[in-house]
Amino acid sequence: MEDNYRHQGKRKGLAEKLALKGIKDQRVLEAIKSIPRHLFLDSSFEDHAYQDKAFPIGKGQTISQPYTVAFQTELLQVKKGEKILEVGTGSGYQAAVLKHLGAKVYTIERQHQLYKKTSQFLKKIGYSPKYFTFGDGYKGIKTYAPYDKIIVTAGAPYIPKSLMAQLKIGGRLVIPVGEDPQIMTLLIRKDVKKFEKHNFGEFRFVPLLENKN
Ligand code: SAH
Repeated sequence: MEDNYRHQGKRKGLAEKLALKGIKDQRVLEAIKSIPRHLFLDSSFEDHAYQDKAFPIGKGQTISQPYTVAFQTELLQVKKGEKILEVGTGSGYQAAVLKHLGAKVYTIERQHQLYKKTSQFLKKIGYSPKYFTFGDGYKGIKTYAPYDKIIVTAGAPYIPKSLMAQLKIGGRLVIPVGEDPQIMTLLIRKDVKKFEKHNFGEFRFVPLLENKN
């Protein structure tokens, strides 16, 4: 669980690279500089942690590419104290970024083993979300709704209605939509029934799966 000056230096380099690729939110770049991404990968893959690429974390799942994490987080416009729902916890890296920005993070993962592993790991490094559950993210987490922001970190064939329903008025939902590749989509809830839609180009994610458990 070591985090030394060499790791910190590499993170700084990664944040600089993301800035060159167009990430402008300084708080997001600061989070990338602070969070020890190498600890989210198995130690034998440490060298990959600070390259701007996605990486397998077992069970066919991935830790999202740093640029993608930064891009989605920037679109969310996270403010301190906001309630944010994340669908697809995976390694927990995106959840850690949101927590670093001062959000109250509610996150859901459908793979039980990954859920257990990530839950223990986030506690160990001091990045526990406010609420972490195992289940089907298509349904959101109704108990704690509505949310200021919602982020989906797996490719969704369509925008789940229940997620739209769990968004506050004025809230933002960031979700990659479609089959390979997905279109990064931002929905802003203007009113009970009115959503404004913006598209932000192609990204590639593992699929958001319907729960078979
Ligand atoms: N946010 C993660 C990215 C993980 S990849 C990170 O920072 O590492 C997407 C994750 O979504 C996978 O862990 C996958 O198991 C999970 N997932 C897929 N379908 C899901 C569903 N219906 N509900 C909740 N999680 C789901």
